[in-house]
Amino acid sequence: MIRVGVIGAQGRMGTEVCRAVEAAEDMELVARLDEGYDYAQLTGMQVAVDFTTPTAVMGNVKAALDMGVHVVVGTTGFDDAKLGQVREWLSGHPGLGALVAPNFGIAAVLMMRFAATAAPYFDSVEIVELHHPNKVDAPSGTARRTAEMIAAARAGRPSPDATTDALDGARGSDVHGVRVHAVRLAGLVAHQEVLLGGHGETLTLRHDSLSRESFMPGVLLGVRWVTEHPGLTVGLEGPLGLE
Ligand code: NAP
Repeated sequence: MIRVGVIGAQGRMGTEVCRAVEAAEDMELVARLDEGYDYAQLTGMQVAVDFTTPTAVMGNVKAALDMGVHVVVGTTGFDDAKLGQVREWLSGHPGLGALVAPNFGIAAVLMMRFAATAAPYFDSVEIVELHHPNKVDAPSGTARRTAEMIAAARAGRPSPDATTDALDGARGSDVHGVRVHAVRLAGLVAHQEVLLGGHGETLTLRHDSLSRESFMPGVLLGVRWVTEHPGLTVGLEGPLGLE
């Protein structure tokens, strides 16, 4: 049995993770932790799963690693600096693993992979991400990661754009040279479109998370993966065997 603790257990994602861990035959939910918890409560667990906030997550990750606990992180807002910091902490704990995944949805990970595969064959590519209005970070971690993968696949080749006169934000944000547009709308969960345009044809890749349950198979896969893969793993591609 893998002993799992959930940090951010009362949150929207944390609640689902607790339910999924309790239903998994090879896992035991040993702690539900929320804001104000004592780091000593991390004792005795093998894996801590963090779905908190971009400001809280780093303290939680450091505390878990210091307590000898592997971490699975779903909290978004990770940039190269934060990943570098986690890598540095891990170097002091050679047996421990950390998995940081901006999206645990298996279909979403495939959508990112398909977008990166298609991107070199088109002149233009832009991303539209759409989420519920309670989301605090924009653009989403998934959109940032998609843009990064697309930019790498196109070796940084920019999309044509003659815009010289625009209102602030009209062309979205520039993420690794890829335009990303963020929509916040009541009623939505998590959605993304990658728009690709070439000579007289377009291709649209769309992914929809219709409920937070969609992330749970990926989270459980991550929990199993991290206990056997020391060091930093970014994204679910490795655990899914896509690398
Ligand atoms: P949420 O409902 O606001 O839940 C966050 C929870 O974390 C709350 O219960 C909050 O407690 C708690 N928290 C805040 N600071 C804490 C701390 N220092 N220590 C422990 N717990 C703390 O948010 P959510 O919708 O579940 O999303 C959580 C994160 O997951 C966000 O970053 C979101 O973007 C990300 N996310 C990732 C994926 C993925 O697949 N990777 C999917 C969906 C969402 P209080 O309310 O008491 O402050």
